[in-house]
Amino acid sequence: MTSRASVSGANLLIRGGYVLTMDSAGDLPGADVHVQDGVIQRIGANLDAPGAEVIDAAGKIVAPGLVDTHWHMWNTLLRGMSDGRPTPDGPDRGGYFATCVGIGRHFLPGDTYAGTRLAAAEAADAGITTVHDWAHNIRGRDWAEAGLRALGESGLRARFSYGYATGHANDQLMALDDLATIRSAWLSYHADDRIHLGVAWRGTGGSNPAMRVAPELYRAEIAAARELELPVSVHACGPPGAAGQVLTYADAGLLGPDVQLVHLNNASATEIALAAEAGTPVSVSPWTELQIGYGQPVTGELLAAGLPVGLSVDTTMLSGNADLFAVMKVTQACANGQARHEFALTARDVLRLATIEGARSLGLDAVTGSLAVGKRADVIVVSLDSPSLGVLTDPARLLVTAATPRDVELVLVDGRVLKRDGKLTIVDAKEITSAARAALAGVLSRAAA
Ligand SMILES: [Zn+2]
Repeated sequence: MTSRASVSGANLLIRGGYVLTMDSAGDLPGADVHVQDGVIQRIGANLDAPGAEVIDAAGKIVAPGLVDTHWHMWNTLLRGMSDGRPTPDGPDRGGYFATCVGIGRHFLPGDTYAGTRLAAAEAADAGITTVHDWAHNIRGRDWAEAGLRALGESGLRARFSYGYATGHANDQLMALDDLATIRSAWLSYHADDRIHLGVAWRGTGGSNPAMRVAPELYRAEIAAARELELPVSVHACGPPGAAGQVLTYADAGLLGPDVQLVHLNNASATEIALAAEAGTPVSVSPWTELQIGYGQPVTGELLAAGLPVGLSVDTTMLSGNADLFAVMKVTQACANGQARHEFALTARDVLRLATIEGARSLGLDAVTGSLAVGKRADVIVVSLDSPSLGVLTDPARLLVTAATPRDVELVLVDGRVLKRDGKLTIVDAKEITSAARAALAGVLSRAAA
């Protein structure tokens, strides 16, 4: 399962690329990036790095790895399974939520492992070096461990947000004892400090009375997370028209820099202001927000209010794939379309959201999200050789509007090579996809029984 140059601590000189630092150093055309012991050692022209393996990046773009800020990785096993309308006699299928709950309850730990591995392989292939795995089908500690194992083996940087089981009964607490156990044994899960723990919180249940969670339960859950000093993430859109959720959280004193809000599409201006006042970070997942009918992403409003914003995949059941380049492109297009202004959001603004700002929203900006000396070496090299690229013009605009995962030639996380010459290195993509197919067949046969 290992191959050449995959060992952390590699000594690499990425030579002569157009370096988009996304840091105060700005753009450095024709610069070198020296990586050793997992860390960016130096960035500059004509560096001398004795003993380093030289990777020629001339004519290519060198950028920080992309940062995803919310992704239900387990259900990548169900990629594409969200179409069709629910029918009265088939309530388990049709649409995202019914399918997620109806099929998700038949997952065994091995299926969570297979789905998370597939998602993680897709991430590395697509130049995503940090993921936020929003694990909301934890049906027991084995399911959490399966997800953590897949993330650990993937080589990615991650937040693993420990959640509940999809379809979790509203009158029951999430498994706080298991959460505490995982927290206390965290040294065995953090994979050389690449993974940190968070809590995927179901919140108050939104506007639908049938979904509502009693205040004593949701307060106990968030209190437990804060007691364990873990960051929390919660969806704050609910079904279309569910404005008011952020108000509920604000009134209950539950907002803060440690609570990430996901999907503020339906939030009122007052709610956005309250979230900004609390310093709460936000995750925007334009493809899924559009696909499920939450409405337009409101990235421009969130940024204008001063909220920390990151971009996200959310779920490939709806988005189809985990192409964060396409996420950037639609983010900019929606923001400019809504503003009826060509320059409401520039490509560079959006690239910041997918790199340093996304990292900041996860509390990882001192570690990753930009290319700076001393930071962990999470780096991508994007080739311009495809006919859909071809020329080096405005590199930020090329990444946001033209690049695709297939153009990502090299991916490093912690200085370790996850993709090289366009091919995944530390995981076997063929084995992962065939294991995923076998797992899905098992899940579907149990679901049909
Ligand atoms: Zn979500």
